[in-house]
Amino acid sequence: PAFTLALVGRPNVGKSTLFNRLVGRRAALVDDRPGVTRDRREGQGRLFDLVFTVVDTAGLEDVTDDSLEARMRRQTEKAVEQADAILMMIDARAGVTPLDSHFADQLRRAHKPVLLAANKSEGKAGETGRLEAYALGLGEPIALSAEHGLGLDELYEFLAPHI
Ligand code: GDP
Ligand code: MG
Repeated sequence: PAFTLALVGRPNVGKSTLFNRLVGRRAALVDDRPGVTRDRREGQGRLFDLVFTVVDTAGLEDVTDDSLEARMRRQTEKAVEQADAILMMIDARAGVTPLDSHFADQLRRAHKPVLLAANKSEGKAGETGRLEAYALGLGEPIALSAEHGLGLDELYEFLAPHI
């Protein structure tokens, strides 16, 4: 599909869990040649009647000596360039971290549609973190649970006008 959604965020926020939920078994490694950085996966995502390409940025497989922040910045740049829309995820249970703020700064300059998702929001544990995420300046954070499939209707409402 022509429309591409990139999943962006620091390690451990739940990007791959959401990727797997959207893509199921239709995933493919972008590049699995030996020695080539497997820095992202893409696949055909489905959400209700929408069909689109999803890109999962992996984060830690980049084997340079650069800082995590520098690696993630490069990876995010690539993903954003390729994407029509971006879903930035935070871990609502962990709250907003400095790395989340760096991502948000980068994404605000991308001039592409961005939806902010406070993942791990099942139950009440994520509510404080979700409210903190307003400070990232990316609009109203949706409450998402990639693991339990909550918040997908709001993701749908974000995507539908663009696809
Ligand atoms: P990634 O590094 O951003 O790709 O994050 P992963 O998808 O690998 O998830 C990191 C950890 O968070 C794993 O242990 C997941 O099971 C867990 N996780 C992902 N989504 C959720 C969620 O919605 N709720 C909770 N409680 N845990 C989650
Ligand atoms: Mg991952």
